Amino acid sequence: RSFEEADLAEVILENIVLAQYTKPTPVQKYSIPIITRGRDLMSCAQTGSGKTAAFLLPMLSNIWKSDPPQRPPSERPELRTQYPVGLILSPTRELAMQIHEESLKFSYRCAMRCCVLYGGSNTSLQLRDLHRGCHLLVATPGRLEDMIQRGNVDLSQIRFLVLDEADRMLDMGFEPQIRVIVEREGMPAKGIRQTMMFSATFPKDIQILAEDFLTDYVYLTV
Ligand code: AMP
Repeated sequence: RSFEEADLAEVILENIVLAQYTKPTPVQKYSIPIITRGRDLMSCAQTGSGKTAAFLLPMLSNIWKSDPPQRPPSERPELRTQYPVGLILSPTRELAMQIHEESLKFSYRCAMRCCVLYGGSNTSLQLRDLHRGCHLLVATPGRLEDMIQRGNVDLSQIRFLVLDEADRMLDMGFEPQIRVIVEREGMPAKGIRQTMMFSATFPKDIQILAEDFLTDYVYLTV
């Protein structure tokens, strides 16, 4: 099976070719159609399985199809505010940086802006990038909560939410911060937003989080 068989926007398929991905990995093959159809997803997938593209490709495609940008971000004043429509939570800055790099590759020529926030580095550079507009935000929970508190990020327009390496986020003690972010008033509720969780394992605490954050979800293990 090739990427062309998946229901992805043409511009995204072109970016897949540019990225030199010729064949979807198993997690991509099964996750992409589930996400493009708008379903919530709980996917058990290891690092190295290709899970990043498994959620980025359908998310970017869905955003593009629902609102193909007519003008570049610099000419769209509505994008000068920090109202991302997609949010990806990551346990570590390294993973956040990797996801951000992939998002830049796949959003090429989409006039979509992808930004990243993580702790332990220069906030003003991250903020400057964010203030140029942001469709898709990749963030670690601590730094994101800090930016929300300071009024730098508004999550009221989120339509797509991803928890990547959810088991690692819980192992690192991020559950309270994740719950504050996802359950905050103003964040679109489950069933309104589309939510995808990725985790290498599916222990009880992840099952509970899935019950709380997902609606009528597909469970996928590859
Ligand atoms: P991930 O599991 O998302 O961290 O991806 C692991 C590595 O595989 C990354 O370097 C990706 O760029 C690469 N990769 C993911 N999907 C594909 C694919 N379909 N074809 C070739 N490389 C891929």
